[in-house]
Formats: sequence, structure tokens, C-alpha cells
Amino acid sequence: MHRVAVAQGDGIGSEIMDATLAVFKAAGVPIEFVPVEMGLSVWENGVPAGITDEAKQTIEDLGVLFKGPMATPSGKGVKSINVTARKTWNTYANKRIFRTLNGVPRGRYQHPDIDITMVRENIEDTYGAIEHMQTHDVAQCRRLITRPGSEAVVRYAFEVARRKGARRITAGHKANIMKLTDGLFLEVFREVAKEYPDINSDDRIVDAMAMELVMKPNSFDVIVLPNLQGDILSDLCAGLVGGLAYAPSANIGDHIAIFEAVHGTAPDIAGQGLANPTALMLSGCIMLRHLGLMAWADQIEAALEKAHRNCFRAPDLGCTPVPFQTQVFRDLVIEALEPVDLEHTKNIAPALRAPARDTQRMMTSPRAGSETTKGVDLFIDSDATPTHVAEVVNAACPAGMSVVMISNRGTQVWPTGSVFTDCVNHHRVRVESDTVVENAAIYTLAADVSQTLRVCSTEALLQIDNEAQYSLAQGQ
Ligand code: NAD
Repeated sequence: MHRVAVAQGDGIGSEIMDATLAVFKAAGVPIEFVPVEMGLSVWENGVPAGITDEAKQTIEDLGVLFKGPMATPSGKGVKSINVTARKTWNTYANKRIFRTLNGVPRGRYQHPDIDITMVRENIEDTYGAIEHMQTHDVAQCRRLITRPGSEAVVRYAFEVARRKGARRITAGHKANIMKLTDGLFLEVFREVAKEYPDINSDDRIVDAMAMELVMKPNSFDVIVLPNLQGDILSDLCAGLVGGLAYAPSANIGDHIAIFEAVHGTAPDIAGQGLANPTALMLSGCIMLRHLGLMAWADQIEAALEKAHRNCFRAPDLGCTPVPFQTQVFRDLVIEALEPVDLEHTKNIAPALRAPARDTQRMMTSPRAGSETTKGVDLFIDSDATPTHVAEVVNAACPAGMSVVMISNRGTQVWPTGSVFTDCVNHHRVRVESDTVVENAAIYTLAADVSQTLRVCSTEALLQIDNEAQYSLAQGQ
């Protein structure tokens, strides 16, 4: 018997989870569900993480969490429990399956059947939420894309494509603009692709991909994307298959996996018995397959299709001749359940257990060459002109170092630029050295400049084998 931690969630969470577990019970799914406390009620009881220590321990012991949607209280400093859970347990791949369900109205876009699997990086990118007010006018989010993180998700996506028998895997990115971050993601994709010569691989700039998904969705099969771009395009794909109520997801890590619907707590319909549990039930089916319980997943999916053929219309689809009722729908699915094909039950995988760990794992790739520091970008909070800022920083520079460029909001404004480039009080002052500089020297410079101007941030200029590992300014 498998054991899975289950958290009901907030808003419509308990309504759709109760309906889902009732269907699983009626189907005879061989899982013991162990309730855990997570979400708004825990947060309201004064636990800022939104999860009790006991729940955390249970999930780490069992390795699988089936969860309802959880609300993120608004306000600065409050982190989403959903994102925290995915990040804490390193569920680096978010797999979302967008498949036309027989019986579900397709909305205004009349495509043939769609079967797209989207794998979205789940930890990094802007979801690191490393944000600072640099000046009173300027907010910054550090967007980290890493080689080991990209490799983990890309490799997982290729494995998914192979298991699916996919005809194509496509990477989405914005490497034409973000040459280092998205460039790294794309470089890793192309490297890993060489290990899977049996699968056609290509890439698309994410905006073009968005249009192609609308115009000819069936040209795609498996898609892999960085976190934020994946988040946006997966909702677009949900729209192609009938809406959020039909979009299931799995958060996959090497040790812990979380299964949940894509949608949120739907506070506008919570407590009214109107919520559609289909996405959670489909997420449960992905979980069943993850556990090797294929026959039960097939059985429940078939019953879901049959129930939908009864022409139910969900409120979130915007067409409600018959109001959708969670419990009526639950009973329809239960009625539609056929006996499990016991042939498949012989293939049940052994119950998963998350292995014990006593420290974090360090993921690094071998260093590519000799690393040196060429200089520093000093970010300066000042409403003085770029020319004045350059004079102050140059005066503080030791022999051999000088200001080579100042940019404002990414566009070069000194030594050359346009008077039509409007500036804010956040100058990026690039200081380079004629020779290799000690890393410590750049902080000495920052301290010296700080005597006159406020330095709000610094970035060392890394070179590998004398090649710059930093972006140029627009116009440089
Ligand atoms: P939402 O997904 O909760 O709701 C968007 C719209 O879709 C609403 O009109 C809602 O009624 C409808 N809808 C969503 N799920 C439905 C269902 N199963 N059946 C019928 N209609 C459904 O998005 P939101 O309003 O932006 O977010 C509400 C809360 O949920 C926020 O606190 C947000 O942080 C949280 N959230 C949680 C998760 C998660 O737990 N993974 C995901 C997204 C949002």
C-alpha cells in the first residue's frame, strides 16, 4: 500500500479534494492518504511558513504530497506557501499536461484534439523573488538561471518526451535579448539534446511560441521553458483545452513530488459547491502514474470523460445553462467508473520513500577556464548627471582603473548617448582595469566612492579565459 500526504488547501480546496478522494476511494485506489496541515489556517495560527513541522516531516518521509490550492495572503514579506513548498523540496520540474478532454467545450477556438506536455523550470528565474528597492524610485529583481538547475529540468523534459513517444521537443526562451540567462538555458538544452538523437528538438523565441500555440497548437508536443515564461504559456495552453479547471500539474523533484491543480483557491465561488474538481482529479491521475498505478489512472480518466459527455458546463467556462455542482459531478464520475483492468496491476511500482538526508546537496558543473575579475559595475543612487557621476567615480579610481561606460535603465548615457534618453536615479557605472584586479579591490573602490555618492549595489565583472561574462549596455 502506498502512503501519500494530503493537504486540503484553502478556498475551494476542501470541496474539490473531498470530491477527488471520494472518487479515488470508489475506484479502490491502493493508497493511504495521510492528512497534513498546510495553508492559510496554519499561517493564521502564527506559523509564518504556513506549514507545521509535523506536516513537513510527514511529507519528507513519504515523498509525495497531493495538495489543494492554497491562498497567499497579500502584503509585502509574505511568501506563497505553494512556491515555498516547490522550492524547499527542490521540485525542479513542473509538468503540466494539456489534453482535450472528450465532452469539454473547447471555447471559441475550435482546434482538433490537443495533447501538449509543458515542462516548466520550477525553482529559479524571477521566482527566486530576490527583490530590492535599489533607490526610492527603482525596484530590482535578480533573475538567476543556473547551469545545474537548467540541466535538471531539461533532462527531465527529454525523459518525458521519450516516455511519451513525442515527435518533437521545443525549448522556449528569450535568448535574443537575455543572452546570458536565457542564453544559458538554451545552451544547456542544445547540449542535452545531443544525448537524445532519437527525438527531434528545436527552439522558439517565447513570444513567437505564444502566437504559434494559438495558431497551430498541434505542431507542438513537449515544450520546456524557464519558470516565468512557462507560467504564462501554461495558462495560455489551459485556455486551449477549456480553462483552468482542466489543467493538472505535477512538481517533480528527485526525492519529493507534489501534485496539484494549476488553478488557485477561487475565493469568488468558495463554499458554494460550484467548484470543478476535474483539474485536481487529473493531477491525481498523474500522481497515480508516478506511483506506478497506471490501471487506476486510466480508469479514473475514462470515468471523467464519460461524466463530461453528460454536457456539464462549468462556471469558469462562462456558459452555464446548467450550474455546475461539485457533488453532482463527483457522483457522475463515481457512477462512470469501470472495474480496474487487473492485468495492469501486476506492474505496480514499489512504494516510494524519500531517502534520509542530513545536509544540502551542492550542485556544480566543472569550471570552464581561468576566471578573473576585469572590474566592477557600481550601481549608484544619484540624481546627478551621468557626467558628474563619472567624474566622482573616476576621481576615486586607483591607477589602472577607470570608468568606461555609464548606462541608465540598460541604455548607455556616458561617454556617449542621446539627450533624449530619460534617466532615473540609478546609474550603472562600469569600471574596468587595464590588468587583472583582485576581487577585494572593487570593494575598496566602492567604499571610496561611497564617501561622495550612495553605492546601492555592486556586480563584479567576471572573465573566463579573458572573455567577458557580462552584458553590454544598449548602444555600447
Ligand atoms: P484562481 O485560479 O483561484 O481563480 C481564477 C478564476 O478561475 C476565478 O474566477 C475562479 O472562480 C475560477 N476557477 C478557478 N478554479 C476553478 C475551479 N476548479 N472550478 C471553477 N472555477 C474555477 O486565481 P486567483 O483568483 O488569481 O487566485 C486566488 C488565490 O489562489 C490567490 O491567493 C492565489 O495566490 C492562490 N493561488 C494558488 C495556487 C496554488 O495553490 N497552486 C495557484 C494559483 C493561485
